[in-house]
Amino acid sequence: MSDDRLDLVSTWVRVLSLRTRLLRWYDQEKRELPWRTTRDPYHVLVSELMLQQTRVDVVLPYFERWIVRWPTVGDLAQADEDEVLAAWSGLGYYRRARSLLAVAQAVVADHGGQIPADPAALRELPGIGPYTAAAIASIAFDVPVAVVDGNVERVLCRLLADTRDPSAARRRTVEEAARRLMTGMSDDDPDAVPPPDGLRPADWNQALMELGALVCVPREPKCPLCAWQRSCIGFRSGLAAELPRKKAKKPTREVALRMAVVRRGDAFLLVQRAERSLLSGMWELPTTDEGGTVADLRAVVAGLIDVSVDLSREPVRTFRHTITDRRITVEVHTAVIAAAGDAVAEERPGIAWTTRSDLRDFGVSSMTRKALARP
Ligand code: SF4
Repeated sequence: MSDDRLDLVSTWVRVLSLRTRLLRWYDQEKRELPWRTTRDPYHVLVSELMLQQTRVDVVLPYFERWIVRWPTVGDLAQADEDEVLAAWSGLGYYRRARSLLAVAQAVVADHGGQIPADPAALRELPGIGPYTAAAIASIAFDVPVAVVDGNVERVLCRLLADTRDPSAARRRTVEEAARRLMTGMSDDDPDAVPPPDGLRPADWNQALMELGALVCVPREPKCPLCAWQRSCIGFRSGLAAELPRKKAKKPTREVALRMAVVRRGDAFLLVQRAERSLLSGMWELPTTDEGGTVADLRAVVAGLIDVSVDLSREPVRTFRHTITDRRITVEVHTAVIAAAGDAVAEERPGIAWTTRSDLRDFGVSSMTRKALARP
């Protein structure tokens, strides 16, 4: 690949210098994290899926509870989806929870309960893309494949001062740089010999991601603390904080919804979202479509339980919630129905009456959690 941006990683001597400095920094400064105390591929799999789009401090308690509840991939394979969604509740992006369950089931069915080491075999597993396959193969099995996540892309765009807008070409440059840093191989230097202590693929990938998480952070990179400062072209050119260039953000859209807290004794009504909808399978309070009126909300509830309820005309509370590009204003209405009497539908797939204390058994959307939060 002929690309002048790659000069910094064009010979093994240069690569080795970058590697040595970063690995020394990582050995001294890395965070102690529970998934780093073992090379168990199941722990790596769980942590990698939880960490996609989610901060480490948020993931930590979820990870620890998860491993206690399902200590092995075989244990997880036997769980049912509702339990898994309930344990994931609050982490968001619930597709990851379903993927994790599907991966566990496929590992048991097709790989005798052993997570494969080969990145190509990992990519055959449901919901496992190139990034996660490379992370598991390298971190759990020391396979020398480079991982390129958002942190790595940011660090390498800055290191090479790649000022291009996001594109397939920029991505190829970043992937090539990551590959050379991992293996030392470049077109110009085919005779490179690996360092005496080996390539350390697990440590190397984690070191690069850790640099992005702790030092080469998105807004204000801490260049004076960086092991790469003297080589970094982005730093030297004063461009670091502006890189990588981003796509223009989609404008946010203002949306209004209504939710109903329908009580019967201590219990309130939940409804499960349909398959193939956003957050499918999650439980939530009865909710209107965008722009729904109180009459629409009453119709939603009546459609669920066959009874017309007397909803509060005015909302009892209003809150804001953001999902990707939608900024949602939610108005919450309440209704109380007699514990006995009305022929309320009770046992029907997709609806449930639950108490606050049993709520933890349900995978509940964050918006519903906010609607139910005590003022
Ligand atoms: S010197 Fe600054 S911009 Fe360059 S890699 Fe380090 S933290 Fe990032």
